[in-house]
Amino acid sequence: MKRTALAMILILVVTLASVSGFSQAKKADKPEKAKDPVCGLMVDKDPKLSSAHKGETYYFCSKTDLEEFRKNPAKYAK
Ligand SMILES: [Zn+2]
Repeated sequence: MKRTALAMILILVVTLASVSGFSQAKKADKPEKAKDPVCGLMVDKDPKLSSAHKGETYYFCSKTDLEEFRKNPAKYAK
């Protein structure tokens, strides 16, 4: 009985340590986000899905939105 309780505490400690370690690691390499001006979604800054317009770089969730922006950047740029 005592052994089981000890094992339970050990599992709890290990779980807590790994959870906090995981969240810290996640926080450290959190990528910068940008707003997709076409659909308004927050997206990761992916150079493959970006377009420069009047000195600003815009990022998109998909190639479809990127092409939509390139067709009419004045409509979507701030
Ligand atoms: Zn989008």
